[in-house]
Amino acid sequence: MNGFEELKARLKTPELLAPECLIDGRWISASASAISVENPSTGQIIAQVPKLGAAETDAAVDAAAAAFDSWKTLTAKVRADILMKMYHLLVEHSEDLGAILTAEQGKPLREGINEILFTASFFEWYAAEIRRAYGKVVPTPDPDKRFLVMRQPIGVVAIITPWNFPAGMMGRKLAPALAAGCSVVVKPASQTPLSAMAVAKIAEMAGVPAGVVNVITGSAAEIGPALIEHPKVSKVTFTGSTSVGRTLYEKSARGLKHVSLELGGNAPLIVFDDADIETAVESAIQSKFRNAGQTCVCANRVLVQSGIYDQFVARFAERTSQLKIGDGFDLETDLGPLVDRRAAAGVRDILQDAVAGGARILNDRPEFEDTSAFVAPAVLVDVTEGQRVCTEEIFGPIAPVLKFETETDAIRIANNTEYGLSAYFFTRDNARIWRVSEALDSGVMGVNTGLISTAEIPFGGMKHSGLGREGGEEGLDAFLQSKMVCIADVNSNPN
Ligand code: NAP
Repeated sequence: MNGFEELKARLKTPELLAPECLIDGRWISASASAISVENPSTGQIIAQVPKLGAAETDAAVDAAAAAFDSWKTLTAKVRADILMKMYHLLVEHSEDLGAILTAEQGKPLREGINEILFTASFFEWYAAEIRRAYGKVVPTPDPDKRFLVMRQPIGVVAIITPWNFPAGMMGRKLAPALAAGCSVVVKPASQTPLSAMAVAKIAEMAGVPAGVVNVITGSAAEIGPALIEHPKVSKVTFTGSTSVGRTLYEKSARGLKHVSLELGGNAPLIVFDDADIETAVESAIQSKFRNAGQTCVCANRVLVQSGIYDQFVARFAERTSQLKIGDGFDLETDLGPLVDRRAAAGVRDILQDAVAGGARILNDRPEFEDTSAFVAPAVLVDVTEGQRVCTEEIFGPIAPVLKFETETDAIRIANNTEYGLSAYFFTRDNARIWRVSEALDSGVMGVNTGLISTAEIPFGGMKHSGLGREGGEEGLDAFLQSKMVCIADVNSNPN
C-alpha cells in the first residue's frame, strides 16, 4: 500500500481525503504538474495535489465573484443554518480530519483532533454571531432626515493560510467570512493542503453553494500576485510569517484591498517569584512544546525571577525529559516531528548558535540524525538576550530560559522584540496582574495559563505581529463594512 492508500485505510469516511482543488463546484485532481505532500514522521509521500497557476486563480476569483451575488442575499438565518451544519460535520468527522492533519503536518493525533474541534468552534460561534450583526439608527441632528447604518459583506476574500494549523487558521477566517456573506478563494500552505481540501468537502456536504468556497494549490509566487492583485478581490486575510505578510501588505496597497494579517511572534513567558511553580511548569510545557513548538503563540523566551529560578529550571528540565517524541499516530507521542527536514535544520542551527555562545542544555534528550525532521526538545540556560534563540521566532521545541531580578526588568526584556502577539505570566499578586497586563506589548495574554485561544475572543498581534483581530465579534467585523443611508423627508426643503 502506498502512503495515500494507508492514510485512506485509517479513515471511516475515506472521501474526506480528496487531494483536489475546488473551483466553482468542480473538483480538480493533480495532472502531470503536481505538488507532493509528505508525512514528516515517515518521509512517505501521502498525496499529489494540483500545481495551479494564474489562470486557475482567475477562474477561482471569477467563480467567487459570481457566487457572492447570491450568497450575500441569503438571510443571516439561512447562512447560519449552513454554518451549523458545517460545525456538526466537523465534529462528527473530527477523528478522520484529525488523522489527515496528523499525516500531513506531523502533530500528535490528539492535537490534530483538538485542532478540528477548535476549527468547528468558529462555525458554531459565527453561526450565532451573524444573527446579531445589527446595524444602527443614528440620532439625527436634522428633523427632516434619518440616518441608518447597515453592515454588509466586504466581497470576495483571498484567504492565505500557514502549515502549522492548516485547519484551525482556515476555519478562523472562513467561518466569519461565510457568515458575513463573503465568498472566498483559499490558498493553503503547500506542505499541508489536504486539511483545507477536507474542510472544503465539509462545506460542500453542508450545502455551501458552488463558487462560494474555492481552494487552489500551487506555487505561491504565481498564485499570490494573481490573487492579491485581482480587481475582484476585496479583502486579503493572511496568516503566516511576518516577512511574507509585509510583502502581501505592500502588494495589497496598490489595489486598496482590506487587509488582515496574523503574523509571527516571540512570546515571553514570565514566572514571578510568587507563582505557583507546578502551574507555571505545566503551562510552560504546554505553551512551548504543543505542536513541537510550531505555534505563533508559543512561549519563545522563558523569563524566571531569581528567587524561584533554580527550582523552576530543575523541574522544567525534568518534565521536558519525560516528553515522548515520535510518530503522531503513536498514541504515546507528546511531540511529533517538525513540518519538514528544512524546518528542523533551521531549528538545529538556532540551537547550535546558542550553545556556541555559551548556553547549556539542561534536560535529557534523544539523538536524531541531522537529516531527520525530528528535533528533541531542549531547555537552555545561560542564554543571553541578543542570541538568535531570543531574538528570532524559534518555531521549534527549544526553550531558552533567562533570569531576571525585578518586575521592571521582566517587562523590559519581554517587550524587547519587534513582535507583539502573545505573552504569559505567572503570579498570585492581583495588583501585579493589572500592572503587567497593561505594560506588556502583546495582543493576547495568559495569566497563570499557557492556553488562551478560543472562538469567543479577539485574537491578533501588536507591532510586527499583525493587523486586525480574528475571533470574537471583531472577527466578524473584519468581513463586514458599514453603509450609511441618509433618508430625507420627501416633502422637506431639498437643501
Ligand atoms: P509563510 O511562509 O509566510 O507561508 C504562509 C502562507 O503564505 C503559505 O500558504 C505560503 O504558500 C503563502 N505564501 C508564501 N509566499 C507568498 C507570496 N509571495 N504570496 C502569496 N502567498 C505566499 O508561513 P509559514 O511558514 O507557513 O507559517 C509559519 C508562520 O506563520 C510563523 O511565523 C507563525 O508565527 C505564523 N503564524 C501566525 C499565526 C497568528 O495567528 N498570528 C498563526 C499561525 C502561524 P506556500 O506554502 O505555497 O509557500
